[in-house]
Amino acid sequence: MRRSGAVALALATLLLGGCSATLTGAKGEPVTSGPPPTSDATPEVADPGLSGSVDDPAYDIALSEPVEDSYYPDVGDPGVDALHYDLSLAWTPRTRTLEGVTTLIFRATGDAESFQLDLGPALEVSAVTVDGAEVPAEHDGDDLVVAAPVVADERYAVEVHYAGTPEPVQAPTTRTDFSTLGFTITPSGEAWTMQEPYGAHTWYPVNDHPSDKALYDFTLSVPSPWTGVANGELTSRTEEAATTTTQWHLAEPAASYLTTVAFGDYTSTTNTSASGVEISYWVPSGSPQLADGLERAAAGLDWLEERLGPYPFDTLGFLLVDSQSGMETQTMVTLGITDYTMSERVLVHEMAHHWYGDQVTPEDWRDVWMNEGMTMYLQGMWQAERAGISVDEQMDSWAATEETSRTESGPPAAYDPGAFGENNIYYGPALMWHELRERIGDDAFLRVMREWPAARDNRSTDRDDYWAWLEEETGEELTAFLDAWLLGETTPPRD
Ligand SMILES: [Zn+2]
Repeated sequence: MRRSGAVALALATLLLGGCSATLTGAKGEPVTSGPPPTSDATPEVADPGLSGSVDDPAYDIALSEPVEDSYYPDVGDPGVDALHYDLSLAWTPRTRTLEGVTTLIFRATGDAESFQLDLGPALEVSAVTVDGAEVPAEHDGDDLVVAAPVVADERYAVEVHYAGTPEPVQAPTTRTDFSTLGFTITPSGEAWTMQEPYGAHTWYPVNDHPSDKALYDFTLSVPSPWTGVANGELTSRTEEAATTTTQWHLAEPAASYLTTVAFGDYTSTTNTSASGVEISYWVPSGSPQLADGLERAAAGLDWLEERLGPYPFDTLGFLLVDSQSGMETQTMVTLGITDYTMSERVLVHEMAHHWYGDQVTPEDWRDVWMNEGMTMYLQGMWQAERAGISVDEQMDSWAATEETSRTESGPPAAYDPGAFGENNIYYGPALMWHELRERIGDDAFLRVMREWPAARDNRSTDRDDYWAWLEEETGEELTAFLDAWLLGETTPPRD
């Protein structure tokens, strides 16, 4: 699931007895926030228009069967199967204004007189078209209802023009390292986003649900010398009329909670893993030394690839923002600039999410344990190795707090919906994976750990599919075991 950085921070509180939330660099230096842009330019939003056919088979990779969330049903609409978002965004720091044009190609999942997207109420919609024709739309609260009839399995292009000062939404959590989701504006006018489990709709019209992955292209404009950063590959960068425009392309489908965008004074460096993955590091221009610590990610990626197989995407990047927490995003890791969120264990945890969370994604938020359990377990394996202790000993140290977090926030796969991302979804499932390893042996366990994400490459799925696959692969009857660990009110006995 999501802010694993935040997760990590929560862990730090538990395991390290307190973690500084002060905004300091990796070596404790204060971070220089970016100077304001040198010009007062108001960047213009590009209007990409629709190029090509909505029926282009290139979009087929993003076909999904969207579902209504059992935990947060107010967000997302199963009537829409988003295939490709073309997001053109212009950010004016002086006025805190985001101007956007979103062109979404989607498949209608049924016949209907209208369809619905999520869009924050702070953004004012000026025009909506479907296949080029202007249509009426009602923007009520977080819902944008487009009054255009759709036919099951037909594809449409909807274009939405909007502008405003985005406002984040309340997070359904009691965690102290974050309380809001979505587009966040810093005192200096920089902006960044983190949005697990929902919050993408604070900055673009979207079917904001993880069961509906889609392809993305971004065109980001901001006054120079600031830069816009997003997921995927940076395909172009131009400076014209005191405006920097960058374009980003995401070649594989992503869940909306895994999209990210940031506008600010960034500089980038790169290094390369042993397997040849080039990793980019986007850090505040005033604090280039922050990249030094992050560049250890290359060694962490080597370690993960030995266990999980080749990195599943074409690009990998790290983006530092003014936050107390961090989270994996698609092909990117967005991290707050704190000693903890930039620590090596967090880098490993967040990169592990690119297999567990990004490559295969839970289709319902009740199953966020599918992400956090295995990334925590991998983090535990890594920590044990670094500390020179056994994984057993690492798990013993975590087990000490498992019962408490289960009591406070509920069983890992039946947690309290108002307690999203608490420790119960991390430790218990990590312990469960270790118990499964004891039960079926290293060979079988390490094989299923490695093979599951690729077995559901680019898909969103649920616990039933995962459990059935595990039973098929291991030849074991696991229902009672999984039920006890994921749905039980108390921690099952450990071997
Ligand atoms: Zn995580």
